[in-house]
Amino acid sequence: MLRTRSTIQRHPDRDARERAAPILAEGHVAHVGFVDDGQPFVIPLGYQFNPAEPDRLYLHGSPASRALQHLASGAPVCITVTLLDGLVYSRTALYHSMNYRSVVCFGRGRQVTDPEVQQRVYKGMVSRYFPGRTAGKDYSEPTSAHLEATTLIEVEIEEWSAKAREGGPAGPQDADPQAPGTCGVVPL
Ligand SMILES: Cc1cc2nc3c(=O)[nH]c(=O)nc-3n(C[C@H](O)[C@H](O)[C@H](O)COP(=O)(O)OP(=O)(O)OC[C@H]3O[C@@H](n4cnc5c(N)ncnc54)[C@H](O)[C@@H]3O)c2cc1C
Repeated sequence: MLRTRSTIQRHPDRDARERAAPILAEGHVAHVGFVDDGQPFVIPLGYQFNPAEPDRLYLHGSPASRALQHLASGAPVCITVTLLDGLVYSRTALYHSMNYRSVVCFGRGRQVTDPEVQQRVYKGMVSRYFPGRTAGKDYSEPTSAHLEATTLIEVEIEEWSAKAREGGPAGPQDADPQAPGTCGVVPL
């Protein structure tokens, strides 16, 4: 099989590529990785993702942000979003684990300066983080000064992978209730 940078090699049975969009739509924090002058950085940021536009993801922040300035230059970026679903404990130390859904995206950024796109993205982002909040009723939309004071980066997603673990512990003694020790899942 041809291996690309997004081919899951460890536990291919956990490949969840078809769930990448819903995972990104549910997540809250993007860990944004890039290399600046030879130094890798991974910075946590809020983000916007709309499953109707699955080839792009948005980041925003202060124009002074080093991360956003770097991404505006078109530099390559790797963005990871993780949903932690449970802590898995086993009768065997080696088999302690976690239930999760995660996505790794590879792409490149560019700055968005069109106020219509900015307004649309910010409105969608408020709705995604705070379902039910209505622009004009619960909050006022950004003014042109607010838009100018915020950098919006569109990341074109070139490639992604998704991985998920579900279920209980998989240790050699976990299916035997008579075995010593305890096992189970702490849902989160
Ligand atoms: C959950 C969460 C959501 C966030 N959402 C946003 C967002 O949507 N937009 C936004 O602009 N910022 C957000 N932040 C803050 C963001 O992580 C950065 O601190 C900020 O964007 C400044 O980035 P910078 O590249 O200019 O950092 P710089 O100040 O240039 O970074 C210099 C160094 O400071 C350290 N550093 C920077 N940020 C952090 C951090 N968060 N934690 C620990 N050390 C750090 C690192 O060592 C880094 O190399 C969020 C933070 C968290 C934890």
